[in-house]
Amino acid sequence: MNKIYFDYASTTPTDPAAIEAMAPYFYEKFGNASSPHAIGQEALAALEEARETLARFINAKPQEIVFNSGATEGNNHAISGIAYRAMDRGCDHIIVSSVEHHSVIEPVELLRDSGFKITFVPVDADGLVNPEKIEEAITDKTMLICVMHASNEIGTIQPIQDISAVTKKYNIPFLVDACQTVGHIPVDVAELGCDLLSLSAHKFYGPKGIGALYIREGTDVSSFLLGGDQERSRRASTQNVSGAVGLCEAIKISQKKMDEEAVYQSKLRDRLLKEVPTLIDGTKINGHLTKRLPNNAHFSFDGVTGESVLMRLDMEGICASMGSACTAGSMEASHVLRAIGLNDDQAFAALRITLGRWTTDEHIDYLLEKLPGIVKELRV
Ligand code: PMP
Repeated sequence: MNKIYFDYASTTPTDPAAIEAMAPYFYEKFGNASSPHAIGQEALAALEEARETLARFINAKPQEIVFNSGATEGNNHAISGIAYRAMDRGCDHIIVSSVEHHSVIEPVELLRDSGFKITFVPVDADGLVNPEKIEEAITDKTMLICVMHASNEIGTIQPIQDISAVTKKYNIPFLVDACQTVGHIPVDVAELGCDLLSLSAHKFYGPKGIGALYIREGTDVSSFLLGGDQERSRRASTQNVSGAVGLCEAIKISQKKMDEEAVYQSKLRDRLLKEVPTLIDGTKINGHLTKRLPNNAHFSFDGVTGESVLMRLDMEGICASMGSACTAGSMEASHVLRAIGLNDDQAFAALRITLGRWTTDEHIDYLLEKLPGIVKELRV
């Protein structure tokens, strides 16, 4: 049976053009970008081209890009790197939204264990952060504020510009996790007004294991990995040149297709948001209806568990998820769904459908044909 993929938020297939662009960097162009000889320099040139392409794409300077393994590393780097420097100034307070990804929550919780103070700012029922709540939480000890660009679970897009107006007023570094938005909706670091921004290539049809942290010039962040001078001494370790080439190609494709894909996917998404509640009584749509990623539809169904729905969908050849793939094995209810006010039953009854480059109307037809019957059967 052909599988239908509705889990693009957890990862995307690598675009064949990106794979093709990467291939030479495993063979004849395999060099270490730090080697001074010709093969090394060829790798370095490709790495720097990728850096420039990414920088241009997010309106940053090339020297503000640190290539790394992805957004998990970027978030960990930003948080520990800011905390390490801020300790010298006696600052020990971090503000994070209560819907952040675990790669933000766990590093700040680790810091809390060593004496830092953390404020989790609540969100409203749509998952939106209120900039005023951020401002209220600020103290003279606040050293970092973290709010993601868009939720990987419920797709809500945050008012980042309004929040950065606050962070700038108080001159506090601002980290934006843009893992779900880069390549999907415009991401411009100057417009967003952030100081740090994390991303992963595999979320926009690039390869896995490569991403970047944008660090605005003048932001005081310590190095994350030690033991080499790569990435201007901000991240030691031999650079993943083939990965950077794949990321670069994926960006070039996104540059061409992003606007058109956003319109197309929004139409498919809106079909789901309209038709699923009509076909299935007791459906709740999670996340903001319009301030929402073009590719995200997220539901809770009364009287079923998301896990059983997913298993039945899988048997019909449909691959979807409940929410974050990173916590798929967890027995705890999603902190994001709890933060928007769902009880445990509703949180465990979640279904996330995320669309992408290869989603068609026929895929949506098939899902709409199978899903109502599955939910109905599981309810009896
Ligand atoms: N932040 C967000 C919002 C994400 O969706 C993800 C991936 N699920 C990450 C961070 C971590 O990205 P990666 O697994 O590529 O490190």
